[in-house]
Amino acid sequence: MNRHLILTAAALLLASGAAPAESLPLQSVNKANAVIDAAIEAHGGAAALDALRTVVQKQDFVTWATGQSRRPGPPWDRAEVSNFNAIDLENEIFVNHNAGEGGGFVFDQGVIINGENSWQLNHFSGTAAPMAEPDYATQSGPFIRVTAPLLIRQLQARRQAAHWLGEAEVDGRMHDIVTLVMETGPGLALYFDRQSHMLTRMERALPPFGQVEYQFLDYETLGGVPFNQSLLLFVNGEPNLEIDVLETQINQPLDAWLEIPAALERVGEVRPDEFASQEIDEGVFLIGGNGTYSLFVEMADHVVAIEGTVVVPDAIAELRKHVADKPIRYGVLTHHHSDHIPGAAAYAKEGATLVTFKDNEAVVREAAGDPEAKLQFVDQRLSLSDGSRTIELYDIGPTPHAEHILIAYLPAEGIVWEADHFPVPPTGVIPPAVPVTRAFAEALERLDLEYGKLVGAHSPRVAGPADLATALSRQPANAAAAGGL
Ligand SMILES: [Zn+2]
Repeated sequence: MNRHLILTAAALLLASGAAPAESLPLQSVNKANAVIDAAIEAHGGAAALDALRTVVQKQDFVTWATGQSRRPGPPWDRAEVSNFNAIDLENEIFVNHNAGEGGGFVFDQGVIINGENSWQLNHFSGTAAPMAEPDYATQSGPFIRVTAPLLIRQLQARRQAAHWLGEAEVDGRMHDIVTLVMETGPGLALYFDRQSHMLTRMERALPPFGQVEYQFLDYETLGGVPFNQSLLLFVNGEPNLEIDVLETQINQPLDAWLEIPAALERVGEVRPDEFASQEIDEGVFLIGGNGTYSLFVEMADHVVAIEGTVVVPDAIAELRKHVADKPIRYGVLTHHHSDHIPGAAAYAKEGATLVTFKDNEAVVREAAGDPEAKLQFVDQRLSLSDGSRTIELYDIGPTPHAEHILIAYLPAEGIVWEADHFPVPPTGVIPPAVPVTRAFAEALERLDLEYGKLVGAHSPRVAGPADLATALSRQPANAAAAGGL
């Protein structure tokens, strides 16, 4: 990519000796307004943009599982996803449906965000759950961020918060960069071609994962408004998503997509899952919230922590309310995925030994951010014991999810910990098994483990052998209509 940042706003203004009457922020806002006015004209004009009431779009996705593939490094695993979005901009209604496979999972699911009639649909498990707190801004954000005219409308509506960030040359053409802060999510930097005034590119920073970059391509005009027909998304410079728009309709009523398919079983409400601690056995704590959890096991004179997600620092703080004085001696990282290693930094700070695989050394050291971090590698299995309590770690890889992946087993307590292999919803029906669930069940069988409790990195619910049996016996509800959106 040929990109060269020539001057930042600050450098430019300092160099030009700004007049005292016009402050740096005022110049930045004025310049942003000029760029936004030209962009609105180039994207169909204010009247045509205002006349957009609904957008319905079918897209094909090709995804590259950056940091989420079976191996810890490139080349990343490629997958295909069918995606459908429908948005009613005036009434804040949003419908999404996506179906595909990846990482050993199969999915066919969506949401209907429509005020009090909001639902989470799962065509794979055959269920529809009402949503207690539907969030239009958060749910529609990903679609808006890949659809140029919807971003221009956001910029139009939120221009009072926009700044001119600077200018840059992209692929040999000069661009102005303007910031956009949407209702949710980090700030966006939009690149407008100085000649055509079209949106060609966007960037946003997502610590600790890095930078995301969007390229808007192949504009075609519909109702006087240019829509990008494809989009490329890069994470830290590596391809992550390629969107090919198959069909776009504007200003059609959305009624047909707001109905709950009769085949879906109505199940309990989806509620936000608050951060909490559960003592699932004496001295064994399941701590987390919002779909992400860790397990802490109290030993005679130390604690063993299992799982390395982003909740680890908060989970350690919560642990200290229950176990005040014992140091965390081991931080067990189940696998190398980007959402399962950020906790390495908190464990390293506690002086804990990071338990991982030799193959994952580089990504774990980088996540720990400490060249002195202590690492211990598991070769097939590792036993951690204080003489009275034992934790067995087993590599159950290769699975469809990861080349190497640890499960933890507490034989005396009959507890098994897993990550990303047995999806257990917080409440309600256990979904049919996906390929990873079968691999997990086969591993439990092969290792001949006796257990009563199954706990995992993405559920607050303690499941059991009967739940796993249920998953294995269920057929996908969508088998007849596979792949259809
Ligand atoms: Zn994973």
